[in-house]
Amino acid sequence: MTKREISEIKDLLKSPKKIVIVPHKNPDGDAMGSTLGLYHYLKLFNHDATIIAPNDYPDFLKWLPGDEFVLKYDTDKTKADELILNAELVFTLDFNALHRTGDMETVLFEAKGVKILIDHHQQPDNYAKYIYSDVTMCSTAQMIYHFIEMLGDVKTINSDISTCLYTGIMTDTGSFRFRSTTSTTHRVIANLIDNGADNAQIHNNVYDTNSYNKLQLLGCALSNLKLISDSNTAYITLSQKELNTFDYKKGDTEGVVNYALSLSGVKFAVIFIENKSEGIIKISLRSKGNFDVNTFAREHFNGGGHINASGGRSELSLKKTVEKFISILPTYKNDLKS
Ligand code: 5GP
Ligand code: MN
Repeated sequence: MTKREISEIKDLLKSPKKIVIVPHKNPDGDAMGSTLGLYHYLKLFNHDATIIAPNDYPDFLKWLPGDEFVLKYDTDKTKADELILNAELVFTLDFNALHRTGDMETVLFEAKGVKILIDHHQQPDNYAKYIYSDVTMCSTAQMIYHFIEMLGDVKTINSDISTCLYTGIMTDTGSFRFRSTTSTTHRVIANLIDNGADNAQIHNNVYDTNSYNKLQLLGCALSNLKLISDSNTAYITLSQKELNTFDYKKGDTEGVVNYALSLSGVKFAVIFIENKSEGIIKISLRSKGNFDVNTFAREHFNGGGHINASGGRSELSLKKTVEKFISILPTYKNDLKS
């Protein structure tokens, strides 16, 4: 973002504005941490801000400060449409293309307010007047910290902002262990702790509130784990029947793919999760090193994301999807061997 753009945004934010903040569909910790962090910041300056999430998010994020004010598009469409169409400013956070908001795409496209995109995914679309895109960033939450910093307001970061941004950074970095975690990330985190993020409590809230069924489902996923050692690849499947057996709740499969990636020597890990109500297989892809799962997801599974973490979907059956995956893998054998 240029100095001129920052000063234009500063001007826009000088007087209270009607603002809408939007994360992607099926919001994760970074999507909610970054939108709520920005929300608490804007509230300090008396803006009339509302977060509108395309749909609900997992219970392990429901303790975040401000959670009770988040509107969900799928259950509050009339009110949400009105807010979006009347907004003077629309922040879109943690996604790179309007279709990532599902059913909100049309109304966001129609919205006349000034759009500001803040995101760390590859290849952002050009729908916003202001684009703060940095694919080297570990999380959108860290970008919100830098955004506040660029606006000259780092001193206003209070404990609610700190708690939300800490949560976003923590969840998108796998608790500060992915390659995208830099010394700057740790400095930002240190400042957030100094300003009131209770780090031990946040880890507990997000990671130590598992249900018995969630752990049993993890056990099922691990027993379905397959290793294709000549391609250094591992994959997991979960059928709708298995999800039902363990009373699957949103968020229960988050992070499960990382167990496949933790296998010694594995460079590429995938989880295929059947979703009968949407008639799709949801696919999460992870890699280590230079194997680019953003490109892989874009080319084969109608998705995208980052080099080491991406998502996609398939409209084939679970069995056929896995067969397709196994059949294209040999093309990448050399990339996965080195
Ligand atoms: P996950 O596997 O956790 O759903 O997604 C991994 C990463 O890829 C996240 O950063 C997510 O936002 C991104 N992602 C997931 N699905 C898609 C998709 O269909 N398109 C794009 N562009 N990114 C995706
Ligand atoms: Mn993110």
